[in-house]
Amino acid sequence: MHKIQMKTPIVEMDGDEMTRILWAMIKEKLICPFVELRTEYYDLGLPERDRTNDAVTHAAAAAIKRLGVGVKCATITPNRQRVEEYGLKEMWKSPNATIRAALDGTVFRTPVCIPEIQPAVRGWEAPITVARHAYGDVYRAAEYRVPTPGRAELLFTGENGESFRQTIYDFECPGVLQGMYNKDSSIRSFAKACFAYALEIGQDLWFSAKDTISKQYDQTFKLIFQEIFDAEYKDVFEAAGVGYFYTLIDDAVARVVRSRGGFIWACKNYDGDVMSDMISAAFGSLAMMTSVLASPDGKFEYEAAHGTVTRHYYRHLAGEETSTNPVATIFAWTGALKKRGQLDDSPDLVAFAERVECATLLTLREGTVTRDLAPLYTGTLRKIANTEEILNAIRDRFQDI
Ligand code: NAP
Ligand code: MG
Repeated sequence: MHKIQMKTPIVEMDGDEMTRILWAMIKEKLICPFVELRTEYYDLGLPERDRTNDAVTHAAAAAIKRLGVGVKCATITPNRQRVEEYGLKEMWKSPNATIRAALDGTVFRTPVCIPEIQPAVRGWEAPITVARHAYGDVYRAAEYRVPTPGRAELLFTGENGESFRQTIYDFECPGVLQGMYNKDSSIRSFAKACFAYALEIGQDLWFSAKDTISKQYDQTFKLIFQEIFDAEYKDVFEAAGVGYFYTLIDDAVARVVRSRGGFIWACKNYDGDVMSDMISAAFGSLAMMTSVLASPDGKFEYEAAHGTVTRHYYRHLAGEETSTNPVATIFAWTGALKKRGQLDDSPDLVAFAERVECATLLTLREGTVTRDLAPLYTGTLRKIANTEEILNAIRDRFQDI
C-alpha cells in the first residue's frame, strides 16, 4: 500500500507507564501502517531522563523550537516516592514545565466531545478550551506565617535606588502574608499565544480577571491584552470573524455556564488551574481531554491532558487486562500530524489525521468504548473494549471509511 510521505519530521517525545504502552500501540496500529512516519525521537521516560541528567528533556524542547511541531506522551513528574521507586539521582523537574518555559508557551486544553457523552451543563454544544497562563502569581509566591503582632509592608527597591513602600497591614495578632509577582514579558507572551491560537482555530477569545479588586495587578493583565489586541490583532480578528473581549471572572463564569461552548477562555494561572479541572470534569472525562502548548511565535506541542495512568500500568505488568482510553493520546498524534501537514502544505497528511479522528469518534459513537466511558455513555453500548481491542476497533473503522 502507498504510504503518505512527510516532508519534515515532528518531535516525538516518548513517556512513562501505561501511556508509554499506548504510545507504541497507537504508532503500530494507527499510524505507521499508513504514514512513512518521520520523527526526531526523544525518550522522556523517567529512566532516560535520569540517565541523561534531564538533558534529553532540554534537547526535546530545543528540537520543538527548531522543527515547530511536537507530540508528547504523558510522563512521570517525580516526587519522593518516585525517586525511591526508580532509584533517581535527583527529583527531576516536570518535563512539561521545562518545555513550557523553553517555548514560553501557553497550554490550551480542549475536550473531545461526542453526542453520546453529554456534558453536565446541558447547553454546551461545542467544546470549551481553557487557556491557562502557566507562570507566576501564587505558584511563585513568597509566603510568611506571621507569628506575632507587627507591621507588614510591601517594599520594592528599584535598580536606580528609588524605592516604593506601602503598609499592607498592621497585625494585632498572628496571621498570614503572601507576596506574588508576574512579569509584563510573560503576560505579553500569554496574550499573544491566546490571540494567535484563537485565529488558528477560528474561535472567539474571552479573557477574564478581577481588575475591579486588583487595581494594579489584574488591571495590568487586562491592559496588556487590550494593547496587544488593538495594535496587532484587531483587524485580522475582524477579517476572520473572530471576537475578543475582556470580562470580570465572576461574569465569565456565569456566561460560560449559560453559553453553547465553542470558544477559548483565557485565565490567569490559578483561575486556569481550577477552571480547567471544572471544565474537563463537566465535559465528562479527563481521558477525553487534549492539550496543546502553543508558543507566541507559532510552535506547537500536542499531548493528552491526563497522566501516565499508573494504576492501569501496574495491572498491565501483573498480566491483567486493562481498558485504558486512548482518545486523548490519539488526538495528540493527529493534532501534531495535522499541524505538520498544514505547515508543509501536505493535504494528504492533514486528511489522514482527520480520518483517524473521525474513525476514533465513530468507534465510540457506534458503541465500542473503554471502561471509563461506560457509566457516562447514553447511546447503545455494544462493547466495553480492553486497551488493545479499542485500538483494533478504531483501526478497522479507519479502513472502512
Ligand atoms: P492520571 O494518570 O491522569 O490518572 C488518574 C486516574 O484517572 C487513573 O487512575 C484513571 O482512573 C483515570 N484515567 C486517566 N487517564 C485515563 C485514561 N486514558 N483511560 C482511563 N482512565 C484514565 O493521574 P495520576 O494518577 O494522578 O498521575 C499518574 C502519573 O502521571 C504521575 O506520576 C504524574 O506525575 C503524571 N502526570 C503526568 C502528566 C503529563 O505528563 N502531562 C499530567 C498529569 C500527571 P482509574 O484508575 O479509576 O481507572
Ligand atoms: Mg488543577
